[in-house]
Amino acid sequence: MQVRTSSGTADFADRVAEALEPAPPVWPPPVRDPTPVGEAAAERYLEGRVAFERAEDLVGRTTRPEAYIEEAVRPRLVRAVARFPRDLYDILASGRREVRFHAQPPFSRSSPSIAEARPSGPGNARTYVVFLRGALEIDDDSTFLAIVVHELCHVILDHPAPIAWPREPYERRKATARMENEALRLADEMGFKEETWALKDLLLDLAQERQQGDLILPDGSMREPR
Ligand SMILES: [Zn+2]
Repeated sequence: MQVRTSSGTADFADRVAEALEPAPPVWPPPVRDPTPVGEAAAERYLEGRVAFERAEDLVGRTTRPEAYIEEAVRPRLVRAVARFPRDLYDILASGRREVRFHAQPPFSRSSPSIAEARPSGPGNARTYVVFLRGALEIDDDSTFLAIVVHELCHVILDHPAPIAWPREPYERRKATARMENEALRLADEMGFKEETWALKDLLLDLAQERQQGDLILPDGSMREPR
């Protein structure tokens, strides 16, 4: 019999253990199919998978509330998903990676400002919410596509939720840099080379804004601490 305590520590340990359970691997697919799926498939896939804030809840949370409403977000997401290669699309549409999208302004300075993929649930029944935040205020469709693909690369690779990242700052930096680089490499491999370049440029800009430009290597990947 398993003894359950009501202590918060046991609960926390359970949540970390759950977050670390791997989801079944889905990449690489047995056969690569780089054919873009097109807008009809994209619309079908996105049906019921996108959540929005209510218009009145956007007021005061962003200088561009109009970028977060369904009429603005849905067509952009359709254009992005339409460019997905068939193999990636099939993994997502089959439910082997169950994804929802949530259009939401950045809510604090410490939360990831552009976008974030948040996994929850055990490895064999995990869902991932891709929060689209500042990404929606970037008007360039190619960079937007790069961000969506990048977050889905974290999903495909089943990168764990922050609760399961190492506590110790050095190990944490190392783990997050490694995950970023894996996601950037996978987007390249999927065929989004130019988009990944645009994204690396954006990441460098953001790092420099925070005076952390030295975290980015000349090829645009993240410096992994030694
Ligand atoms: Zn990332």
